[in-house]
Amino acid sequence: MRVSTEPKLSFSRAGKQSFFFLCAKCILWSNEMVAIVDLEKCTGCETCVNECPASAIAMENDKAKVDKDMCVDCETCVDVCPSEAIHME
Ligand code: SF4
Ligand code: SF4
Repeated sequence: MRVSTEPKLSFSRAGKQSFFFLCAKCILWSNEMVAIVDLEKCTGCETCVNECPASAIAMENDKAKVDKDMCVDCETCVDVCPSEAIHME
């Protein structure tokens, strides 16, 4: 593998910021968190679907499902879910 000695910033996935640092001695990768839905708690109210600013949540079998590649770690869904069914991981 070819290794650069220069630190770099990159944005790896659509709408999702990631910090990428590469040098000759170390590789450090730090991603933001994503929203996780507890399907046992989700009542299918769709509040999170309507409030997510990134349109990262859709309904599947009457439960909320987060597209991890679209989630931008804003925590809006955590705040608005009336069932406390979402947390960040
Ligand atoms: S707001 Fe909470 S209960 Fe409502 S659909 Fe989203 S995860 Fe489920
Ligand atoms: S954390 Fe923000 S972007 Fe991610 S699913 Fe929840 S509301 Fe959408």
